Amino acid sequence: STAPIAIIGTGIAGLSAAEALHAAGYPVQLFDKSRGSGGRMASKRSDAGALDLGAQYFTARDRRFAAAVQQWQARGWVEEWTPSLYQYANGSLSPSADEQIRWVGKPRMSAITRAMLGALPVKFSCRITEVFRGEQHWHLLDADGESHGPFSHVVIATPAPQASALLAAAPKLAGTVAGVSMEPTWAVALAFEEPLKTPLEGCFVQDEVLDWTARNRSKPGRDTTLDTWVLHASSSWSRQHLDLSKEQVIERLHGAFAEMIGCAVPAPVFSLAHRWLYARPAAAHQLGALADADLGLYACGDWCLSGRVEGAWLSGQEVARKLIAHNQ
Ligand code: FAD
Ligand code: NAD
Repeated sequence: STAPIAIIGTGIAGLSAAEALHAAGYPVQLFDKSRGSGGRMASKRSDAGALDLGAQYFTARDRRFAAAVQQWQARGWVEEWTPSLYQYANGSLSPSADEQIRWVGKPRMSAITRAMLGALPVKFSCRITEVFRGEQHWHLLDADGESHGPFSHVVIATPAPQASALLAAAPKLAGTVAGVSMEPTWAVALAFEEPLKTPLEGCFVQDEVLDWTARNRSKPGRDTTLDTWVLHASSSWSRQHLDLSKEQVIERLHGAFAEMIGCAVPAPVFSLAHRWLYARPAAAHQLGALADADLGLYACGDWCLSGRVEGAWLSGQEVARKLIAHNQ
């Protein structure tokens, strides 16, 4: 039997690649340092129900991605989210409806990657620290000192800063990846006992602190016991306050939210903060996916393209296409 392909990362990029490779008849073995799949599309289970702390929704502009989303919809993994949209700029809040179709996983964002993973073999809570080549095959070393392998190829599907160390065997790829910088995002969730007296369900914010806010429970299939909100700080505020305590971040974002929302905002009955260190690439790239086909080492992720769910999925498709083409 042939050795499987190792895929490091079970975000949408890694799973997009896994799905395409599996469909082409290649065995795959996935790894993730987290306890579950999804990466930046994961949802946090909390006392206030599941909360989408990372990706809020996604759009499908590419024809191939739109076709995939249509299949997901047919299978009940995603649904359209039609929030009552606002924008906040120069200190003023105004309705900002548009025609854009926005998709969310149902009943939580992580439903998509969970369904894509299906029964594919995966090791969670396994942080890969080294990728090295034996005489014929690839092997991986994890943070507990355990080794995994042999593998025919390795696909690295992590954010760029986490990919560089794993690409040591391919200095050229490592060099390209080192040129991609990624920005952080502080995320805060708040839950209120009584619904806030506002029709707002999503808001593009331009102020010093915030970038976006959404009423989590306005998305299809969510727990509606409490009025749940997700707030995202801007990249620059997040970068400047990277080491603030979670309590202080909650306080600052709660304050900015109360200032913009234009209705009474009581103390939340529940709150949490999450720091995404590598939330978004600082700039868009046209890398598609990285390959050293002769070595058998590959990399993909949103940072190769648009820094959005769509870009990550397309990059995963591209990495699979390159690998399959080289082996024909
Ligand atoms: P990831 O989802 O980051 O997956 C990488 C995986 O690799 C992770 O699961 C991680 O645990 C794992 N990993 C990393 N290192 C290792 C290692 N050494 N060993 C093992 N596993 C490892 N996009 C949109 O389209 N719309 C939005 O509204 C939107 N909002 C966002 C808001 C926030 C706050 C954030 C953070 C992102 C948002 N995005 C949004 C971007 C979107 O979430 C990403 O583009 C996309 O999910 C990236 O997918 P990926 O597979 O490339 O990477
Ligand atoms: P989109 O088309 O809804 O939004 C793109 C951008 O257009 C928005 O950021 C906003 O600035 C503007 N915009 C769109 N509709 C608007 C409206 N009705 N009123 C006012 N402004 C509007 O979605 P997309 O292109 O798929 O982008 C995904 C979203 O994910 C973006 O908002 C992006 O900022 C966000 N994102 C956030 C992070 C993070 O780390 N916080 C990372 C990646 C993406």
